[in-house]
Amino acid sequence: MWPFKRMPKAPRSAPVFLTNTLSGKKEVFVPLKPGVVTLYSCGPTVYSTQHIGNMRGAVFADLVARLLLQNKYHVRRVINITDVGHLTGDNEGDADQGEDRMEKGARLEGLSAHDLAERYTKEYLEDIRKLNVTIDDILFPRATQYIAEQIEMVKVLEKKGHTYRIHDGVYFDTSTFPKYGELGGIPLEYLKNGSAADVHDRIALSGHARIKENKEKRNPADFALWKSSPLGSRRQQEWSSPWGRGFPGWHIECSAMSKALLGETIDIHTGGIEHIPVHHNNEIAQSESASEKQFVRYWMHQAHLTMGSEKISKSIGNTVYVSDIIERGYHPLALRYFFLQASYHSSLSFSWEALAASNEALNRLWRIARELKSETKGVSAESDASDEIRRILRDDLATPKALALLWETVRDDELSPKVRLGVLLAADEVLGLSLSEPPSFSRVSQSIPADVQTLVDEREAARSARDFARADELRIHIENRGYTVEDSPTGVVIVKK
Ligand SMILES: [Zn+2]
Repeated sequence: MWPFKRMPKAPRSAPVFLTNTLSGKKEVFVPLKPGVVTLYSCGPTVYSTQHIGNMRGAVFADLVARLLLQNKYHVRRVINITDVGHLTGDNEGDADQGEDRMEKGARLEGLSAHDLAERYTKEYLEDIRKLNVTIDDILFPRATQYIAEQIEMVKVLEKKGHTYRIHDGVYFDTSTFPKYGELGGIPLEYLKNGSAADVHDRIALSGHARIKENKEKRNPADFALWKSSPLGSRRQQEWSSPWGRGFPGWHIECSAMSKALLGETIDIHTGGIEHIPVHHNNEIAQSESASEKQFVRYWMHQAHLTMGSEKISKSIGNTVYVSDIIERGYHPLALRYFFLQASYHSSLSFSWEALAASNEALNRLWRIARELKSETKGVSAESDASDEIRRILRDDLATPKALALLWETVRDDELSPKVRLGVLLAADEVLGLSLSEPPSFSRVSQSIPADVQTLVDEREAARSARDFARADELRIHIENRGYTVEDSPTGVVIVKK
């Protein structure tokens, strides 16, 4: 039984526009079946905590789903949980090489791969729930629960002549799929000649990806469908198959699970732009070669979240997690607000100052929502302003424009409180900022000891008197007591170290 919680009425006639990576253009969205949308999103590899870059992907997919719900579509959603087969080399372009992230993570943490997956899946769900991602209507299948379906798909591909075997597994022969590399407009010669760096540069990736040459592969872009367990060793997670003991390649899980849960052709597939050149082109090659039907009608990709000009990466050591945001005294929804300020097409640079400003703005919106609710009993759901905000959102999820209009409207004294509240609620159906039930929240959630507070007050006084030497001295005293001081544009933030 599908876990539908909301059963919308008949579809509206107003069109929804989405940018489709397949055409590179904004298109009118028309689902395969009237009124019902199938939506698949590439999910996390659960070997460690997911950072805020991954959170941008989860919030983006949530916005797409909420937009469709607002426009009266049924939305059937899947986010896969990768708990096997994603190798350390896969994201660096060192395709099909390296250690399985789950096996490596399990070894480092002294857990079984199963327990590691349990732990980080639970954490991921808790984190995205804190960001108001509506998770009740989503299915979260795990790759290890769909091994039979993955083997089945590789068998079909083998039967149709799309595969070959080499010493470490079964590979997809990309020369058998003439459309290979079409998504994202990647010229075929790049993929054929094996310089993934050129491909990645084209979509402004900062990484230096390069497909390492595997001499046995027929074409550099060929990829593993089934990897054999290394000779003489046993993996924690391995299965028998027609090709011997081993485990599925990373790409086949998305093809197999989307087919099993949503059908051979799905309406929308979302993911980060870093997945366009390899992972998503591989998904298309596998699914369409097996089914001989179109795999995805609308591909949608969100741009990167960066730290300054750098990508967020564990190896650089600049990762930020939802738990860090809460620990520093911000509401997790401040991160969602921060994401909404940029179009999903734009890369976005995270800073604590920007987050503090988002936190401040969101608190102001909550205050306004509370005031409007106490001023008026009813809500005017329909008004020119709420129509306009719905129209802006239908135009390829233009969240920065929607936020701007929202601010303009809630400050407009010419409009009645009922209308202003109506606009707030209409916007929030998609934005998901808890404007209908604003939480009460102050910026610093931890209580600060009295002696630290006295030092903070003294420092503030010194700063106002422009006695910066004294202010610096007081900062050191505060830090010696285990707290850091951050001067954000919206005031001072005190955080326990
Ligand atoms: Zn995927």
